[in-house]
Amino acid sequence: MLMNTYLKPQIVFEKGDGCYVISKSGEKYLDFSSGIGVNCLGYSHPAILEAMVEGSSLMHLSNLYDTEQDRILADKLVKRTGLDSVFFANSGAEANEGAIKLARKYSFDHYGSGRDEIITLKNSFHGRTITTLSATGQDKFHKFYMPFTAGFSYAEPNHLADLLSLVTEKTCAILIELVQGEGGVFPLEKDYVTQLFNLCQERDILFIVDEVQTGIGRCGQFFVSEEYNVLPDIVTFAKGLGGGMPIGAIVAGKKCKDTFGLSDHGSTFGGNPLACRISNAVVDKLNRDFLISVRENGHYLKESIARLNNKYIKEVRGLGLMLGMELTGVSASDVRNMCLEKQLLILTAGNNTIRLLPPLIVNKSQIDQCINILNEVLLSI
Ligand SMILES: *Cc1c(COP(=O)(O)O)cnc(C)c1O
Repeated sequence: MLMNTYLKPQIVFEKGDGCYVISKSGEKYLDFSSGIGVNCLGYSHPAILEAMVEGSSLMHLSNLYDTEQDRILADKLVKRTGLDSVFFANSGAEANEGAIKLARKYSFDHYGSGRDEIITLKNSFHGRTITTLSATGQDKFHKFYMPFTAGFSYAEPNHLADLLSLVTEKTCAILIELVQGEGGVFPLEKDYVTQLFNLCQERDILFIVDEVQTGIGRCGQFFVSEEYNVLPDIVTFAKGLGGGMPIGAIVAGKKCKDTFGLSDHGSTFGGNPLACRISNAVVDKLNRDFLISVRENGHYLKESIARLNNKYIKEVRGLGLMLGMELTGVSASDVRNMCLEKQLLILTAGNNTIRLLPPLIVNKSQIDQCINILNEVLLSI
């Protein structure tokens, strides 16, 4: 039996096709959750299926040998981000864990031991390992598993003075999501991000952006740092990167491109040829026109929610196809459950917010279908 860590509805899902998943009993569900922002090309995308077949005879060989796929993918990520070097992991938490190690090693190499503190933001989410839970700025995640990794402090988002009060001569990095995802879909203010970025530049504090959820086209750019006009020192990707295949990446800029040397970091599965081959196919699809369609459809979805003009909808926020719909007077999980009954999969995030993360290939008629179901549900309460 499974450990009791997830509450699941009774439906068993068996197949997927485009923006739909199909249950064992043959019912078709519109998926606006994308496996939590993972299935960016939807289900059964021909480019992914082709890569799976091509890669099937060499799923894994280890990082002791060259299989080419990881180098090719790394070069693509370097080109698309403007950063310099890549390390592959298997998940978001692992990528962030590696980014934290990278930042601390950079600081150790340049300043010696003791300059190891990292500032993150309240309401953030960075993963479930002991260290990434430490990095997560929400008290509810800081229970049971003591002792947590030391060296983290949490600043109020969009409040520069609060963050400045935490900066010391021991600060080596700032780690942030530019749009807080799990915390409720809160985009940071642009001025604040610019000021943070400048502060980091002045003090040689590494500016790390967790793009595990916002990256790989989700917010309408290859990664959301572009939207904010900042080039981070380190970026982490996961979720959408493999289009459903588990893979994560740490992408480092000039300052720390060579910080990890031989044996400084590693992973058995990280960068395996099958995951990288599939990820190569995903990244190739995210061309200029594709990203324009993400922005257009994101805008259309946002406007369509606003047009519902429903008394339970307090606010719609987000970028691209990463949208949060904050509710008032009704619980988000009730609305999610009612949508499930009408064969629409959606997510919740933070306090009373519905989170919509449709596959990036979604079209307007599927958006209309989602809106109709949401409307029916909200009118039935
Ligand atoms: C999901 C998420 C993570 C954790 O990723 P896992 O693959 O579940 O380890 C980390 N950071 C952000 C911003 C996320 O959304």
